[in-house]
Amino acid sequence: MSEKKDYYDLLGVAKNASKEDIKSAYRRLAKKFHPDLNKDNPKLAEEKFKEISEAYEVLVDDNKRARYDQYGHAGVESDFGKEGFSWQNFSHINDLEDIFGHDIFSDFFGRGSIFSDFFGARTSGYGRPERKIRSVQVEISLEQAYRGISTEVAIPHMEKCGDCNGSGAEKGTSSKLCNRCDGRGEVKLEQLQGFGRIIKIGACPVCNGRGKIIEKFCQSCHGIGEIQKLDKIKIKIPPGVDNGTTLRITPDKSGGRLKEGIYVYISIQPHPFFHRQANDVYIEKEISLIDATLGSKIEVPTLDGNAIMKIPQGTQTDTLFRLRNSGMPYLRGQGYGDQYVRVIVKTPKNITKRQRDLLEEFEKIEKEKSTKS
Ligand SMILES: [Zn+2]
Ligand SMILES: [Zn+2]
Repeated sequence: MSEKKDYYDLLGVAKNASKEDIKSAYRRLAKKFHPDLNKDNPKLAEEKFKEISEAYEVLVDDNKRARYDQYGHAGVESDFGKEGFSWQNFSHINDLEDIFGHDIFSDFFGRGSIFSDFFGARTSGYGRPERKIRSVQVEISLEQAYRGISTEVAIPHMEKCGDCNGSGAEKGTSSKLCNRCDGRGEVKLEQLQGFGRIIKIGACPVCNGRGKIIEKFCQSCHGIGEIQKLDKIKIKIPPGVDNGTTLRITPDKSGGRLKEGIYVYISIQPHPFFHRQANDVYIEKEISLIDATLGSKIEVPTLDGNAIMKIPQGTQTDTLFRLRNSGMPYLRGQGYGDQYVRVIVKTPKNITKRQRDLLEEFEKIEKEKSTKS
């Protein structure tokens, strides 16, 4: 196997590229490599398109990007399947919609198209997609997880193609019955197994299970008879979700298509200064030597805004203070975790002559104190 390409190189962006840079690079390349726009070599374009989508999947997600920056490809391998990245791992369907418009989905997600494995719409032969609960990944900030949010996800589904009325054949062209299966679409297949022989029923290999031979495929559905549409589902993410929380949501408006519900996997972006552990959050706060020595009241950020925290006289560096109930809310429960504030005492630099004199005076008194006791 050839060496895996660097994700930044694939998108042609710098290591410190902003999310916007990454988005616009992907947008540009997706247009360039979309297989439908590369009729002379769709296979190569498809490979390229998949490569840049894999790079995008990792780099646009703070969590995955941080792991990739630290450990390279090994850091994100576990996000994908055994065979590596597949379209099922692609969680930015909405971005593609932004790039290509709504119509793209009929091309993109038709069975037999490059996205046929997307969202678990697996097919067995030409058979119907296996019934499987749809899933979607949603990335939110820690603050959004704290408050809970309402958002929208798009779930693709197949609908009968209106242009060929589901036949898969171009209007005005004929199809003839398949000789091999006599129009049943299924054939008996004999297989040797051990000392015996087993008979299996499978999709007819000649007509691909259609039961008929199509002279010219419908342009809209490429002979599949169905096209992909999207159900836009409003979802409510409750306060207190964590990285990896899975919500099962039953949408009310999908015409019964999603009556089994959908799985929403939550991923939470790393926070610049809050570090979460279960329902508690940790933060570091610098305080001055004087505040630590004399005691003080300081302002510390909380998920809810700010809080005033009392620093007692004689506080040592690395002391951990607790702000009760300032942590994350319990998911569908009562109450909140706590916030821990680790104070770091800052030693003054660049002191003036007078400050030095005062500190030396201070030190002298300290020494006198210790000889007295
Ligand atoms: Zn059609
Ligand atoms: Zn057949």
